Amino acid sequence: MNTDNKLIYEGKAKKIFANKNTKEVIVEFKDDATAFNAAKKSTFEGKGELNCFISETIFKYLINQNIPTHYIKSNSKSSFIAQRVDIIPIEVVVRNTAYGSICKQTNIKAGTVFNEPLFDFYYKDDDLNDPLLTLDRILLMNIIEQEELIFIKKLTNKINLILIEFFSNIQLKLVDFKVEYGRNNKGEIVLADEFSPDNCRLWDLKSNNGKIKSLDKDRFRHDLGDLIEAYSEISNRIKKIY
Ligand code: UDP
Repeated sequence: MNTDNKLIYEGKAKKIFANKNTKEVIVEFKDDATAFNAAKKSTFEGKGELNCFISETIFKYLINQNIPTHYIKSNSKSSFIAQRVDIIPIEVVVRNTAYGSICKQTNIKAGTVFNEPLFDFYYKDDDLNDPLLTLDRILLMNIIEQEELIFIKKLTNKINLILIEFFSNIQLKLVDFKVEYGRNNKGEIVLADEFSPDNCRLWDLKSNNGKIKSLDKDRFRHDLGDLIEAYSEISNRIKKIY
């Protein structure tokens, strides 16, 4: 990475650097992986490049379908240039199939396919352990206006429909995912952060004797096998058709 660029922010899996153009930033993907609010940590050589490629491909695909995102252009194998945004501190989770936290917090059985996607909002705050929010709490906390939340939900619904098809074309089932939004210098709300197997659940639709085969960060969370092998498989399937 060019050391001239000032580090603005370092997260668990990414670094954000200032760019010469002050309306832009450089998003650099790290090889680090964390789970359970960083209680579990590791490093996987090559993860940064894989997640950068997967994220870039998805952002470009979404932009082609008129979804506003912060993505501008490629920069290096493990970084891209994006609009500088103020991140809205809400993690928007969409669930098409029940898995993970929803099965621990409710009586819904793992693998239940929802008729309509379920939208869950979490407050992006590590100290509070990203608590689940309600609409009333979001409005009380003055995080965003109700109309903006409706806009975000509609946009996320569109993204879900587009990406269910994107992944089904490469024989992957999009079980759930997390996205974040930001406000750019024009005040527009755009999809920000990343879209990679660190933030979604992807199950292999190629025959696996009816068993779930995770090609996402659950491999690291629950020691289900080689993470790089899974992320490379996604990347290779993407390269074949996109
Ligand atoms: N997720 C994420 N960051 C978080 C929490 C969840 O990217 O801080 C993603 C996760 O990878 C999954 C989806 O959001 O694709 C739903 O996660 P869930 O609420 O089931 O939490 P988990 O059990 O994975 O911690």
